[in-house]
Amino acid sequence: MSRVYNFSAGPAVLPEQVLKEAAVEMLDYQGSGMSIMEMSHRSDIIEGMMAEAERDLRDLLNIPANYKVLFLQGGASQQFAAVPMNLMKNRVADYLNTGQWSKKALQEGRLYGKINVIASSEDQNYSYIPGLKNLKVSEEADYVYLCHNNTIFGTRFTELPDVGEKPLVADMSSDFLAGPIDVGRFGLIFAGAQKNVGPAGVVIVIIREDLIADNVLPGTPTMLKYKTHAAHNSAYNTPPVYGIYICGKVFKWLKKIGGLEVMQEINELKASLLYDYLDDSRLFKGTVVKRDRSLMNVPFVTGDADLDAKFIKEGEARGLVNLKGYRTIGGMRASIYNAMPLAGVKALVAFMKEFEGKEA
Ligand SMILES: *Cc1c(COP(=O)(O)O)cnc(C)c1O
Repeated sequence: MSRVYNFSAGPAVLPEQVLKEAAVEMLDYQGSGMSIMEMSHRSDIIEGMMAEAERDLRDLLNIPANYKVLFLQGGASQQFAAVPMNLMKNRVADYLNTGQWSKKALQEGRLYGKINVIASSEDQNYSYIPGLKNLKVSEEADYVYLCHNNTIFGTRFTELPDVGEKPLVADMSSDFLAGPIDVGRFGLIFAGAQKNVGPAGVVIVIIREDLIADNVLPGTPTMLKYKTHAAHNSAYNTPPVYGIYICGKVFKWLKKIGGLEVMQEINELKASLLYDYLDDSRLFKGTVVKRDRSLMNVPFVTGDADLDAKFIKEGEARGLVNLKGYRTIGGMRASIYNAMPLAGVKALVAFMKEFEGKEA
């Protein structure tokens, strides 16, 4: 067996330690004689596992007591609808349009109310984060929405907008747990697990309790009401047990390496190795404004599509896989999530240098 360095944007690399533990426990979870996938979600074992996962997540992020943690299904994309259905009282919301995922979210929001795009970087193909100084939050807005890390374009928010009393809603699918955040600044955070936290099939929602309401938009399905899941500890119906179990192991892994401050330092080190090289390279160029560069997703190009293809192919042959850029953008993208080891980034940079020596 040999493992590759997997730079996929998602589903993405998981910590090897987590996969090994899951393999050991596959046939017999904690002496039960069963896999964790074969048990009732009402059993003590599963309830205990889910409660522990929540506790560890609360520890990692210092989640205040007046926030609920939900483990749901439907992916981040379903939250694009759940957020307006639950939070729109005036049927107005403000969105920051900084990439394909925020655009999809705001388009979905338009099914339910009036969406004001109060900032956008679409004019420059989303290669930067718009200035937040003169942001005009609409008086009637029920919430302000942003995508914290733009997976496809490789930008991230390094500051948050001042939204006054309005709830700030953030899609953190691709940088959830990449470093500490102040949960208290947000009304609602959601993250699909398959980028930085676990397998596909789980979406984590952290929501301030006062936003969990009964008076949601008419026609909101029971399953899309935050109230439903908050009232039943994410087990109103069968939760995605196996996915939550893996997420729980990733939380333990993060605690073991020293928590999110340490994780952030490692992420900064990995990203700077790659960006410093890109800044000096005669062949490869980053595609994003320096100030706004993501620590998780690093897009780059040579400027020559044939050369890009050659690079991707040769990389693959050496076990550096999934470096192809997003289908509508081209070039390359290296996703270097929490679980990508430093050695993987070093191997990538060494290969890029060698390729540059040959081709530039
Ligand atoms: C991948 C991604 C999504 C979509 O996630 P699904 O779980 O496939 O719906 C949404 N937002 C961001 C930021 C993403 O990276």
